[in-house]
Amino acid sequence: MQREFRGLGASSGIALGPALVWRPVQPASAAVRAAGSPEEETARLQAARQAAEEELAELRDRAEREMGGEEAAIFSAHLLMLSDPALMGEAEELVRQGLSAEAAVEQATERQAALLAALPDAYLAERAADVRDVGGRLLAHLQDRRRPEPRLEQPAVVVARDLTPSQTARLPKDLLLGIVTEAGGPTSHVAIMARALGIPVVVGVPGIVDATNSGDVVALDGDTGEVAVRPADEELARWRRRQELLEADRRRLAGLASRPAVTADGHPVSLLANISTPADVARALEMGAQGVGLFRTEFLYMDRDDAPGEDEQYLAYREVIERCAPHPVTIRTLDVGGDKQLPYLGLKREMNPFLGWRALRYCLDAPDVFRTQLRALLRAAAGGPGEAARVGIMFPFVVSLEEIRRAKAQVELARRELEARGAPHAGPVKIGIMVETPAAALMAERLAREVDFFSIGSNDLTQYTLAADRHNEHVAQIFDELHPAVLRLIEATIRAADRAGIEVSLCGELAGDARAAPLLLGLGLRKFSAAAPSLPRLKEKISATTLEEARGLARRALQAASAEEVRALLSGHDGE
Ligand code: PEP
Ligand code: MG
Repeated sequence: MQREFRGLGASSGIALGPALVWRPVQPASAAVRAAGSPEEETARLQAARQAAEEELAELRDRAEREMGGEEAAIFSAHLLMLSDPALMGEAEELVRQGLSAEAAVEQATERQAALLAALPDAYLAERAADVRDVGGRLLAHLQDRRRPEPRLEQPAVVVARDLTPSQTARLPKDLLLGIVTEAGGPTSHVAIMARALGIPVVVGVPGIVDATNSGDVVALDGDTGEVAVRPADEELARWRRRQELLEADRRRLAGLASRPAVTADGHPVSLLANISTPADVARALEMGAQGVGLFRTEFLYMDRDDAPGEDEQYLAYREVIERCAPHPVTIRTLDVGGDKQLPYLGLKREMNPFLGWRALRYCLDAPDVFRTQLRALLRAAAGGPGEAARVGIMFPFVVSLEEIRRAKAQVELARRELEARGAPHAGPVKIGIMVETPAAALMAERLAREVDFFSIGSNDLTQYTLAADRHNEHVAQIFDELHPAVLRLIEATIRAADRAGIEVSLCGELAGDARAAPLLLGLGLRKFSAAAPSLPRLKEKISATTLEEARGLARRALQAASAEEVRALLSGHDGE
C-alpha cells in the first residue's frame, strides 16, 4: 500500500527509484549469533582482541604525538583492560561454556561495567564507560563493523535513519538517485554534500525506515519535502511528469551559466561555488561559478584510516587551484569534530560535540596535523606569477582574536619549515576567517583588522545564535536562517567588513537559496558561495532584482519580529 510522508526538503530535485533501506547492525543482535565450537569462538575472540590492541596502540601513539600524555593515557588504560582477567578472563570463560564470542563479550562487558558503576568512588564508577568502550571495540572487530555503511550495487534511493558525512562520502555517486533520512536538518552535511552533486534529499522523515523495504519504489521531492513509498500507478505518473518539468527547467537555467551575474540595475555580483573535492570543480565551472568560495578540505580526510600526508594534500589543492584558473579559490582548513568524527585523529566522543573540540580548536591543539595542511597549502599556492593572490586560506569556527593570532603564527611556522627545507612556496597569501559564531559576528569590527577577508557561515551562525542543533530534526523548525537575530549578525558582519575595506562573502546554505538573494543583496552582500547546482537560479533571481528594492526589503527584514515575517516579506517580493 502507498504511504506518504513529509519531511524537510534538503537538496533540490526529484528522485524516483527502488529503495535501499539501510539498517545498521545493532550491537544487541550480537548475542543471537549461533556459537561455533568453543575452540572456534576462542580463536575469534583472540583475533578480535589482537585487532583491538593494534588499533588502541596506534591511537595511543597518535594521541601522544598530537595531544600529549593525558589523552594517550586513556588509550593505555583501554589497552590494559584488554589484558585484564576481569574482562577478558570472564569472556574467555563464557566462551568455554558455549557462548558465541559476541555474546561472551557483551555479557562480560556489562557485568564489569555494572560492578564499576555501583562503586561509591565517582572516579572508578566513571570507568564503567571505559569498559563499555573497550567492549564495543571488541564487538566491532568481531562483527567487522569498523566501517558500517550502506552498500549500493544498483541505482537506488538510500533510506536510512541517519548518515554520517563519511558514510555519505563513500556512496557511489553514479548509483545514488536520492536520499531520505529520519534524522537531520537541511544544513546537515549529508544534505550539503548531496546538494553539491545535485542529488535530491529529504531529511527529518520519522518512520520512513520501518515503512520501507529495500526494492520498494520511493519518490521524493527535495524542494517540498514530500516522500511517497510504493506510489500507485497514477501517482507514479504524476511524479514522473514533475520530474520531467524540473529537468526542463534545469536545462533552461543551465543556459544562463555563461552570462555574468548582475542586478537588474547593473551592479555586478560574484557567484562562487562550495566544493568538497577537486572533482567538484568541473561541475562548478559548468554551472557558471566564478571561482571557489569554500573548499571544505575535511572531505580529503574522510573514508580512510589515517590523515593524508603533505604531498597528497598538496596535489589536491594544486589541482583545484589549477582547474579554477584564473578564478579565485578559498581553501578552508580542517573543520572536524561536530558531526565529522575521524577516529584516527584521536577525536573523542563528547557530550556536546558542536560546542566542543572542533575545527580550529582541534587544529591549534594538534599542530602537527595543522601544519602539515598549512605547508601543503603554501606550496600549492606557489604557482605562476600572481597566483598566490587568488588563493585564500580560511580558518573555521573562530570565536576570538587570540585564535586568529595563534593560527597565523602556525602559518608562519609552516612557512619557515618550508624555507628550511628549501621547498618552493607562496609569499604572502590572503588569510581569512569564517564568521560563523555569534562571538565572531559581534566582534567583526575588531577581527576585521586581523584578516584579509570574512566568509559568513550561516549554517553554524544560525545553529549557535538560535541554540538549535543543525542536525536535530526535533528542532529543525527552530533552526531558521531567516530569523531576524541571524540577519542582524549577518548585516553587522558585512558592515564591519565594508568599513575595514576587506572582502566578505557568505558561504552557508542560505547563499544558495534564490528566494533569499534579494534580502542578502539588500544587506550589502555582493559575493555568494553556494552549491554549484543552485548558481543558475540564483543568477536569474539576482538579475531580476534592483539594489533599491533589495535595500528596502532588507530594512524591513531587520525590523521584523520573526522568521515567518521575513518569509512573508520575501514572498511579497516574489509576487507570490
Ligand atoms: C557554515 O557553517 O555555514 C559553513 C559554511 O560551514 P559548514 O557547513 O561546513 O559547517
Ligand atoms: Mg560551519
